Amino acid sequence: MNKLGFGFLRLPRTDPEDDTTVDFTVLNEMVDTFLASGGTYFDTAYTYLGGMSETAVRRALVERYPRSAFTLADKLPSWKVKKKEDCERYFAEQCGRCGVDYFDIYLLHWLNRENYAIAEQFDEFAFLQKLKTEGKAGRIGFSYHGDAALLEEILSAHPEVDIVQLQINYLDWESPALEARRCYETAERFHKEIVVMEPVKGGTLASLPEEAEVLLRAHAPQASIASWAIRFAQALPQVHIVLSGMNTMEQLLDNIQADMLLSDKERELLDAVCTILRQSIAIPCTACRYCVSHCPEKIAIPDYFSIYNEYQRNPADGWKITPVYTAIAGKHGKASGCIGCHSCERNCPQRIAVSRELSRVAAVFEK
Ligand code: SF4
Ligand code: SF4
Repeated sequence: MNKLGFGFLRLPRTDPEDDTTVDFTVLNEMVDTFLASGGTYFDTAYTYLGGMSETAVRRALVERYPRSAFTLADKLPSWKVKKKEDCERYFAEQCGRCGVDYFDIYLLHWLNRENYAIAEQFDEFAFLQKLKTEGKAGRIGFSYHGDAALLEEILSAHPEVDIVQLQINYLDWESPALEARRCYETAERFHKEIVVMEPVKGGTLASLPEEAEVLLRAHAPQASIASWAIRFAQALPQVHIVLSGMNTMEQLLDNIQADMLLSDKERELLDAVCTILRQSIAIPCTACRYCVSHCPEKIAIPDYFSIYNEYQRNPADGWKITPVYTAIAGKHGKASGCIGCHSCERNCPQRIAVSRELSRVAAVFEK
């Protein structure tokens, strides 16, 4: 079995417009296939899919398999904690939603400078340690969205941590803003297990500009484009698990088959792909939707960025893409409705200047 973990951030849906409408017929079959292939690791969080992710874990996994058949990771919403007792309250609620009385892995969710300060203020690391001592958490750690310097600071202050969950993919590897390689090397230096999130960068690396796809297909005609991204993460020696949020059986089967090795020649090809991609992605949004609930104007931020990127790739298709924008804007705030409060930007793991980018979207689709 490769290092694949089943991420419950993106799941099959009966209504593509509504993240909470999980299609359990498809999901149950995917869970069965994943376990039958030797996979065991499942990842969820309190805030994923508005809480529906944890419920989906219970229905698709916990109620259908013995507890010993899988490894379950969950995350405390570190930034929502307002007093120490909240940690216990969230943990109990999460156990209830998932239908378990312990998690194999329990992480502080989304540490960056701001959330790390909250975690320290309310002794969240001590809470994790207490859970571990009581047998309610097997291994502990945090998911991370900051730079390498802060990661070093946290790992120095908290040697009790077992696991760090990092955003790693071949496009971000040398990114000066996201510092994927430097964060990986920092965690490696501290001998932490690394769990990778967003290996396909929210789907960005599943569909490449034609010039880049031609390069990869010439080398491996049968391999899917997404499998290259999964393989890049799996090939890193300190990586224990590569999470993939999958919403179709085809994606799951493709990920299960991904090889764990990457030759020097293949690494060179990915470098060439990165060069092409950096010139072609207008807005590097991964559609994680973390920003959406923070927007007072109910702007469909990732949907607008997706169609804007599509437009930038194929401006000649503008006549087809603009009506899609108009339809979405009919149900949500328009791009031009952004009031520049920057609330979304504080919650964007890709550190996108959302407000500025929305003005570019508005200039194209609202003219
Ligand atoms: S900056 Fe704009 S898009 Fe972001 S939360 Fe504020 S209004 Fe919404
Ligand atoms: S703008 Fe940022 S937070 Fe919002 S969906 Fe895109 S990557 Fe996620």
